Amino acid sequence: MLFDCPHCKAKCQFDSLDGQRRCRADESHQQGWLCLNCNGIIITKFTVPQNLNTALIFPLIKINPKIDIKKLDDKFKNDYLEALEDYSNGCYVSCVIMCRRVIQQSCIDKGAKKKK
Ligand SMILES: [Zn+2]
Repeated sequence: MLFDCPHCKAKCQFDSLDGQRRCRADESHQQGWLCLNCNGIIITKFTVPQNLNTALIFPLIKINPKIDIKKLDDKFKNDYLEALEDYSNGCYVSCVIMCRRVIQQSCIDKGAKKKK
């Protein structure tokens, strides 16, 4: 099975460790995997109707800033870093909300008028 490996940061082939288990607490399907590139271990988790192709992978991949954040004003930086953390934790709705805040603050900072 192919997954994005959070350890070696590549799309890698994985071997199943011990078959799939079903969690009684949340009915999720969980499974351990071994990366054949780096020998790192991951856990996949999904609930039906999702499947392995849409499963969450633990440990989660941390997203690092692609820009030099030292030059960013705090009013942008904190929201930007929170958006990256939200994305890294699989909280996509809150990530989008934080991205919108960054864009809105940037527009206000550049002197944008309301609704334009
Ligand atoms: Zn790996």
